[in-house]
Amino acid sequence: MHLTEETLAITAVAPRNFYSFTLEQLEAYLKQYGKEKFRAQQIFKWVYEQRVTNFDEMLNLSKDLRSELKNLITFDLPPVLKHLVSVDGTQKFLFDVGGGNSIEAVVIPSDDRLTLCVSSEIGCNMACKFCFTGKQKLKRRLSTEEIVGQFMIVQDSLKKTNQKLSNIVFMGMGEPLDNCDAVFGSIEVIHSPWGVNLSRKKITVSTSGLIPEMYRVANAKVRLAVSLNAYNDEVRTQVMPINKKYPLKDLLEECKRYYRATGEKITMEYVLLKGITDQISHARELYKLLKDIPCKVNIIPFNEHPGADYERPSDETVQAFHSEAMRLGLQTLLRRTMGRDIFAACGQLATKVDHPDTMDISNSKIGGTNVRSFSSGQPSL
Ligand code: SF4
Repeated sequence: MHLTEETLAITAVAPRNFYSFTLEQLEAYLKQYGKEKFRAQQIFKWVYEQRVTNFDEMLNLSKDLRSELKNLITFDLPPVLKHLVSVDGTQKFLFDVGGGNSIEAVVIPSDDRLTLCVSSEIGCNMACKFCFTGKQKLKRRLSTEEIVGQFMIVQDSLKKTNQKLSNIVFMGMGEPLDNCDAVFGSIEVIHSPWGVNLSRKKITVSTSGLIPEMYRVANAKVRLAVSLNAYNDEVRTQVMPINKKYPLKDLLEECKRYYRATGEKITMEYVLLKGITDQISHARELYKLLKDIPCKVNIIPFNEHPGADYERPSDETVQAFHSEAMRLGLQTLLRRTMGRDIFAACGQLATKVDHPDTMDISNSKIGGTNVRSFSSGQPSL
């Protein structure tokens, strides 16, 4: 075969992963190799609309172009190591992201939605004391394609049973605002009409409180969740070391700024830790703290993990806290813990699977299979 100079240049280059691209970036990438701009749009349609990821099947591209593109673009996705399904319908996907590391994504079903909770980092440097991921130091930040990849793999899997993801939350492993380029790059792909085409209102970014980056959530016009977990600075610094650098007063000021910019209420995540954050008096302090913040509070009973420093409160304590918060006028939701039996619940995700795949939760009402009436739906964002 006679190779032209252009073909030689293409074969010499390392192919790029399609899922890393926005439309504009793919147009620019193809332009470097003398390809027309509209080719990018054609490829996006094939991949995100038709789910065709084999160039040989992209029949509106010429045969020559298809064989050139094979050297420029790959459609690789992280391999699935495990797929576990909880007794409550929650699904956990464990992905191999190389270097002996894995990440997890969780599908949480509720009455009218199917929410995917994605990871943004392998491990996490925020070291929140109640979180299993926080015990595993940051190993690496995920790339855009690894985040979009979680969505696409799960979506493809659900398609087999005629289901479709309706929401995505960045609440898995890692602090999303510690990996802004990849997180907001993936949000652009997931939101845009040329990509997955999911409404911005269905996308939520959660943060432990990295104040300097929070403006980006407002700029992206997606929903904000704050992992609050305490009713004053003393307790918050104890359970979330980030609070030392970015204390509550500044964090809540930033939340107000977000509300002014977007008109969207903030979701406050509040983990109930036995004896630390679960008392009636704590509910009253929480009310005082949040009464002027446009927010709703998701109450989450602590989920155990290996080596946990905290305990889960009793169901009675959880209910009493919830009742008091509601009585005071806080807009609260008691989140039914889901996926706890497969270690897929909030705060249980791991970079390596060094615990059993499942655990027995039959003694617990909250988190067991017999608690539908206790649910307010989860996540409720
Ligand atoms: S709660 Fe989130 S931010 Fe805190 S350690 Fe866990 S993954 Fe990191």
